[in-house]
Amino acid sequence: MMLRVGIFGGTFDPIHHGHLALATAFAKRLQLNQLIVLPAGQPWQKMHGALNTVSEAHHRLAMTRLGAAQLDLPETEVIVASDEIDRTSSSYTVDTLASWRNKVGADASLAFLMGADQLVQLDAWHQWPRLFDYAHLCVAARPGFSLAAASPIIAAEIAQRAAPAHALQTQEHGLIFIDTELALEISATGIRAQIRESAQALNEATPPSFLPASIWRYIRQHHLYQSES
Ligand code: ATP
Repeated sequence: MMLRVGIFGGTFDPIHHGHLALATAFAKRLQLNQLIVLPAGQPWQKMHGALNTVSEAHHRLAMTRLGAAQLDLPETEVIVASDEIDRTSSSYTVDTLASWRNKVGADASLAFLMGADQLVQLDAWHQWPRLFDYAHLCVAARPGFSLAAASPIIAAEIAQRAAPAHALQTQEHGLIFIDTELALEISATGIRAQIRESAQALNEATPPSFLPASIWRYIRQHHLYQSES
């Protein structure tokens, strides 16, 4: 059997049960030997809004570590990598994947995990067709982001590359696996808004349903998301 590695990148501001469910589902479907959870560096790519910037990288990394510790994946080594956060310059996903391909070797199966919201806008990514030279894409359905809304160029790519999970386990890169069963209506944007709006009502003793208790404690301790700053 070839080495099977999954990379799950995200802003993770904060990491939530939607992320953890996606990571768990794909680790099992692809029988991953390693899952690399990769928080993004500071926002060249993503501002949450003029008054609402992405949280500092060290907070997102700490929460990602707490989230990864919740994953129950006995067959998979879970690694939280700070590579992107430690970089002084921004990096495109294609470069990140090229560098991970180098690390895992040419013979490994390498998969990049994402939600459907990312796939429908893939053609806006820098040199997106090259992603398939390095990795497979594993895509989880996400409420509100129909793949039918993908541009014709992405729809054609999906039609050509779509494959079942087992095919990704025996091929190095270039396929797309879409999981339509996972469709969790949780978003980090929604979580931040909810905490901001009802911080008084939410208390430490009763963690919200969308996050592990350890991350809720961290958010409370560090007063994250509680004001528009
Ligand atoms: P926001 O709501 O601020 O956009 P997000 O949770 O989508 O936050 P990221 O932390 O960057 O943002 O997400 C990391 C990855 O997880 C992305 O590929 C995203 O598509 C995926 N993802 C996040 N939430 C879900 C979900 N509920 N279902 C499926 N995929 C998800």
